[in-house]
This record gives sequence, structure tokens and C-alpha cells, in this order.
Amino acid sequence: MKNHSNSAQLFEKAKTLMPGGVNSPVRAFKSVGGTPVFIKKGKGAYITDEDNNEYIDYCCSWGPLILGHANEDVEKAIIETVKNGTSFGAPTALENQLADLIIANHSYIEKIRFVSSGTEAVMSALRLARGVTGKSKIIKFEGCYHGHVDSLLVKAGSGLITFGESTSAGVPESFTNETIVLPLNDEDAVSSTLEKLHHQIAAIIIEPIPANNGLLLQSHKFLLHLRELCTKYNVLLIFDEVISGFRVGFEGAAGLYKIQPDIITFGKIIGGGMPVGAYASSHEIMNHVSPVGNVYQAGTLSGNPVAMAAGYAQLHACLQEDFYHHLQHKADLLVDGVKKHIEQKGYEITIYNIGSIFWFAFSDMTHLTRADQINAGKMTLFAKVYHHLFEEGIYFGPSGYEVGFVSAAHTEADIQKTIKAICNAFDKVM
Ligand SMILES: *Cc1c(COP(=O)(O)O)cnc(C)c1O
Repeated sequence: MKNHSNSAQLFEKAKTLMPGGVNSPVRAFKSVGGTPVFIKKGKGAYITDEDNNEYIDYCCSWGPLILGHANEDVEKAIIETVKNGTSFGAPTALENQLADLIIANHSYIEKIRFVSSGTEAVMSALRLARGVTGKSKIIKFEGCYHGHVDSLLVKAGSGLITFGESTSAGVPESFTNETIVLPLNDEDAVSSTLEKLHHQIAAIIIEPIPANNGLLLQSHKFLLHLRELCTKYNVLLIFDEVISGFRVGFEGAAGLYKIQPDIITFGKIIGGGMPVGAYASSHEIMNHVSPVGNVYQAGTLSGNPVAMAAGYAQLHACLQEDFYHHLQHKADLLVDGVKKHIEQKGYEITIYNIGSIFWFAFSDMTHLTRADQINAGKMTLFAKVYHHLFEEGIYFGPSGYEVGFVSAAHTEADIQKTIKAICNAFDKVM
């Protein structure tokens, strides 16, 4: 067994200082059991913990690090920028530079506003949709995560038209009443809800590639159906691309499926590992945002120069020829390698990817599309696999509901080593 004594000690101390010892709940390892490791440093595809154990990292800070850890270009951009100060609360050329790079290379947006997290981007996008339409209710889907926005911390309640039930204490019922929760990939559910309630509905928000509760792949037809219905009923379609943006291609899921949403939210990759979020749309819709329009939204550290420089360096690298092609190739390699073993052994496990996002689940289905298809009872198997991989020096996000990310820094040798470790882990638990 690896030595984790320094991490264990740090975690004991952290628990006296922060709730559960962490600043974001999933980091606490509750769903796989055991103690989280504290990370000392990362380089490329590797992270090193406080006891000097090394891991090949497929969490990649939950997606942002598409170039891997401490990428030289990103590092250099941060260091050069920080020498000139860290924040001014006044415009900088760096904001123009990043906005220009994104807009010039993204066919689905014309204007962007930077914020500091994915949650903030989503919260602002909802306000904008409400401001533009003059309506208040939002449709979201069971199995999509949109950050910790009050009115979106809801799951389907009971009853025909399901007003949400809060999944967190501290969310007033009046907020959850503004949210309607529907099953993913179900055209009829959306049609019938809009038919009845479109006068009250401001927006439909969806992760076009739901990747926060397993990887639930939606049919192209379903996403097109959302687009058509939204246009028909004057409801805005929000693609929450905080994970999929710049991940499955520079234009994200909108580009992959060739669907024009009304508003797109970004986060994660956009900041190159620094805290950045953004929401973007047409000139017409974005001009509703203050100071031009009457939808108020602001941020002291929004468009922070150091974060803008990091985001620019990372997105600039993403625009190099064949960047996404190479990433996809490595993820395919990983998935195909493991799949071959699963098929040989006849295990009831599925593994699949879209671009460089991959996920495996203990299921007899080849692809899952809805949250209720995930077998929660099998998560004990995931926890066992997790710890085997952990011992072998392979680091995943500590939950079976989380996806894995391949970065540009992973080598084919890393991938081969990972395939072997995953196959061994499956052999041990199945
Ligand atoms: C991560 C994520 C968020 C929240 O972003 P934070 O930066 O954690 O606030 C919102 N939506 C989606 C789709 C995400 O993946």
C-alpha cells in the first residue's frame, strides 16, 4: 500500500478549518470512501501528492486542464502578466484579446461577458433569458448539473408537470417553483410541457453533452427538437457548455451538433486553469446586459488580467491544427483498449467517449441517455475499481458519476499503462 500519511494529517487539520476539510464537496472522497490525497504539484499528465506518490491524472481539475498541468505557454503567460499587477477593476487589453480570439473562432456567438466561475455564468444567463423574454420559469433536465445556482439545485418532484424539489437545504420553495425538471432525451415531455406553459417559460437550459452525472449522450434529434420548440414558443435555448465548451472542439457541442443556441455558458477550459466563466450570445441578446441594457450583472474580479492571459494561452493552443483530432485519437485508444477486454471477458460494463471525455459504468446498456438508467447500486463496484486504480497510480475524479478527461499531455504510453490498470481492476472486482 502506498503511504498517504502526510495527506491524512493535512486532511485531519483541514477538517477543523473548512467544512468536511474541503472547499468543494466532491473532493472529500465521500462517494468512494477513504481519505483524499493533497496535491503538491502537477506537470503534464501527472500529479504528485504530499507523500510524493505520482498519478496519471484523468480528473484534470474536473476538465479545465486540456493541455495538462503547468503547461509552459500557460505558465509563461501567467508569470509575464502577473509582473504588471494582478487586478485593476478597469478594462485591460487582455479582455479584448481573449474575447476576440473566442468570437473570431466560434460561429455561434457574437458578444461575450466574462465572469469568474461556471455557476456565475449560468446564474447570469438565466437572468438574461428572463430579462429578454419577460418570463420567469426555466426548464432543466434531470441529470444535468449547472453549478450551485439556487433555482437549479432541484430534482424532479412527483406529479405530472414536475416542479422541482430542492436538493439542498437553504433554497426557498418559491425559487424551486420557477424550475421545471424533465427527463433527458424525451421529446414528448418537452413538447407537452411547452404546449401548456410556454407563456411562463423563459428558457430551456441543458448540458448538450451531459457530463456531470455520468456521460449521458443525447440524440441529435432531441437537441434539434429543443431548438425548434424554443424558436416556436419564444423560449431561449441555453447550452451550458461549461464542460463541453472548447472540449469536444473549439465550438463545443453547438459546433459538433451544428445547433445555434440562444445563449452559451462557458467555464473550466476557458480560463486555462484560472477562475473564469463567461456567457455569450448574439449582439442583440447581449445588449440587454448592463451597462447597455437593463439586465444587471457585475464582478469586481471579472475579466481578471492574469486569468485572461491564461485563458488566451490555452485557447490559442487549442486552435492549432489537428489539436482536437489528436485528443480524440488518444481517448479512442483508451476506450477501445478497455472495451476489447470487457467484451472478451463478457463483463456488464460499458465504456464510451465523446471527444476527449470518457466514462465507464456498470451497465448492460452500451450508451446511457437518461439519469435514471444509472444503477446507483453498482457504485460500490466503482469505489473498489477506484481504489485499485489509485494504488496503481491512476487518478480519477473520486465518484462513479464523474467523467474522465484526456489532455494533450497524456502520451500513448500513459494511455497503454492506464488500459492495463483499468482491465486489471475490472478483473479484480468482477
Ligand atoms: C462545472 C460546471 C458548472 C459550474 O461551474 P463552477 O465553475 O464549478 O461554478 C456549471 N455547469 C456545468 C455544465 C459544469 O460542468
